[in-house]
Amino acid sequence: MICEKEKCTGCFGCFNICPKNAIEMCKDEYGNVFPQIVKEKCINCGLCKKVCPQLKEKLDFKKPIKAFAMYNKEPNKRKESTSGGAATTFYEYILNNKGIIYGASNLFGLNEFKFIRIDNKLDLYKVKGSKYVHCYINNTMKQVKEDLLADKKVLFIGTPCQVSGLKSFLMKDYQNLITIDIICHGVPSQKLLFDEISNQGIDYRDVYYVSFRDDKLFNFKLLDNNRKILLEKKSYNVDYYNHFLKGDIYRENCYDCKYAKRERISDITIGDFWGLDKNSKIYDDEKKGISVVLPNTQKGLDLIKSISSECNIEERTIDEACKTNGQLNRPMKKSKEYNTYRKYYPKLGYRKTMKKMLSIKSKVKKILKRILKKV
Ligand SMILES: Cc1cc2nc3c(=O)[nH]c(=O)nc-3n(C[C@H](O)[C@H](O)[C@H](O)COP(=O)(O)OP(=O)(O)OC[C@H]3O[C@@H](n4cnc5c(N)ncnc54)[C@H](O)[C@@H]3O)c2cc1C
Ligand code: SF4
Ligand code: SF4
Ligand code: SF4
Repeated sequence: MICEKEKCTGCFGCFNICPKNAIEMCKDEYGNVFPQIVKEKCINCGLCKKVCPQLKEKLDFKKPIKAFAMYNKEPNKRKESTSGGAATTFYEYILNNKGIIYGASNLFGLNEFKFIRIDNKLDLYKVKGSKYVHCYINNTMKQVKEDLLADKKVLFIGTPCQVSGLKSFLMKDYQNLITIDIICHGVPSQKLLFDEISNQGIDYRDVYYVSFRDDKLFNFKLLDNNRKILLEKKSYNVDYYNHFLKGDIYRENCYDCKYAKRERISDITIGDFWGLDKNSKIYDDEKKGISVVLPNTQKGLDLIKSISSECNIEERTIDEACKTNGQLNRPMKKSKEYNTYRKYYPKLGYRKTMKKMLSIKSKVKKILKRILKKV
């Protein structure tokens, strides 16, 4: 291992830096990916350890300079996004200025959730929306570096640990790079999601698109490549989604996440503005989606100023922004169900483990539902 297994975030930094392609990202029994060094190819240059953010004593954390509440003025753009459409607004600005964007895609046609590079607005739909699963960076860090060296403006949006991996891989600041991190409480493995899809009686090879949020509602939707709906269920009727929201099935390192605090790693941090005071002049309905936007550098603040005509935006206090957003304060705690998942999943598989993880309350609810159906 490069860093201890329990600490590894799966950021792909080491994978991208290795000059000999001696690192493979392999899955463990939970489906979480970790680097493995192919000894025959390794020349012991030490670069992988040098870039690993989990081995660094100090990371470049910055305090937010200001806090904003915002949403995109165009109702459709707001509707298609998870929060207030901050990500789309920034992506569009960069693309309009001949830049390149990198984001996580839920186009599932290749049976993998992964980061992609986009250079035109027609493809922007591919990176819209939250994907509640660990998305792989693969070799996109190398592509980012190529774009930066070619003097292109680059915007990268990912989880804080992914941004940290990218910055560490790049080894120096680039004026033409903007990084944005999403507030993040943790990610489950892709294997768990594939298991859930199979458990729903659907062949994952038939799924082209996975949607986790539908007009802000926590709905789980699977579509084929003709946009035909294969499955549509509420989050609480889908084990995977239920346990994702409760924090029962994340990668082990997420429960000790060093990025879940006010001090941030990127130029800008975005998330949901939970608890925006109703006196705010842009407050309408939290259910329509309001983004919290925290500039952590002057570069970030300048970008926010550049997009301000596209959105309804208001400066708020940093305390208000952080107060009700758990992961701006601390990482998620391990639950009792998490321990059940860790103990049984490798031995019993998905379906039986999910049954074991049902709380007594849910078990009673299920039995009552069955009885009521018979009456
Ligand atoms: C796993 C996860 C946990 C989250 N937890 C919280 C939380 O606790 N509190 C909170 O306020 N907000 C949380 N969010 C963020 C929130 O759901 C929105 O993603 C965020 O506010 C951006 O929304 P938007 O409307 O600006 O744009 P959107 O269009 O929704 O943003 C999409 C962009 O976010 C990035 N992204 C989406 N999913 C992933 C992923 N799995 N890995 C890496 N990057 C991704 C992509 O690059 C993508 O282009 C979480 C998101 C994820 C994916
Ligand atoms: S020590 Fe160097 S060659 Fe070996 S795996 Fe790490 S980066 Fe690759
Ligand atoms: S660089 Fe990232 S993927 Fe590699 S060992 Fe460190 S945390 Fe894990
Ligand atoms: S909780 Fe922390 S370690 Fe886990 S994916 Fe999010 S940022 Fe990375």
